[in-house]
Amino acid sequence: MPEGDTVWNTARVLHRALAGARLTGSDFRVPELATTDLTGWTVRESASRGKHLLLRLTAPDDAPWTLHSHLRMDGAWRAYAPGERWSERPAHLIRVVLRSPGAVAVGYHLHELALVPTAEEDTLVGHLGPDLLGPDWDPAEAVDRLWAHPEQTIGEALLDQRNLAGVGNLYKCEVLFLRGVSPWTPVRAVPDLPGLVDLAQRLLAANRGRWTQSSTGSLHRGQTSYVYGRRAQPCRRCGAAIAKRELGERVTYWCPVCQPERPGTPPPS
Ligand SMILES: [Zn+2]
Repeated sequence: MPEGDTVWNTARVLHRALAGARLTGSDFRVPELATTDLTGWTVRESASRGKHLLLRLTAPDDAPWTLHSHLRMDGAWRAYAPGERWSERPAHLIRVVLRSPGAVAVGYHLHELALVPTAEEDTLVGHLGPDLLGPDWDPAEAVDRLWAHPEQTIGEALLDQRNLAGVGNLYKCEVLFLRGVSPWTPVRAVPDLPGLVDLAQRLLAANRGRWTQSSTGSLHRGQTSYVYGRRAQPCRRCGAAIAKRELGERVTYWCPVCQPERPGTPPPS
């Protein structure tokens, strides 16, 4: 599940593979960029902003450009050595190939692939709230943005990237479990919202630098989450069956005992 930490890791992989390199070839397999050729362009850096990837390039005329991509549920970038077999996924999922003397970067099933002047990056990521893993992470601003919609359920508010950028469905479910908060709680009724935001940031930060996402501290298969993906399995704390239901456009997992409805909270329908 690509969430902020996965995207942060991916940005680092691309940075190590390509930063400073002059591209020797490119192959875009999306209609909008089919005629784009980045041969001779230089890669300045790779960065993440929430769940968005920004590969910053310099054109031969020295103009700064940004290649934007989004992984959503199923996208991935991989870096291979020149001549190495691309083993990650079927070739028909490839959306772009970037070649340099030292590495080949292959983007699979990427979404929102776009090439824009770096000065116009905000047209793609300017709407995002504070980035949980960004150098400018601002927890007070994130809390303010959440507070701006007090009747929204906390389960939906945490996924709204305009509030804070980087939390996906997995960390949403896990953070709410760890704080004992029902996903259907309106933002106004969440006790200690700053504490909840702080925990979300620490969970993502703790998972940087590895590909296995864990909220329990265990990296063993089947033991990495408290509630996410564990429908009908016993809660690790109280033994009650973990519940699963749609909330907004996504499903949510929670323990009905550890995350009780609060008075005045509309019940899940
Ligand atoms: Zn429980």
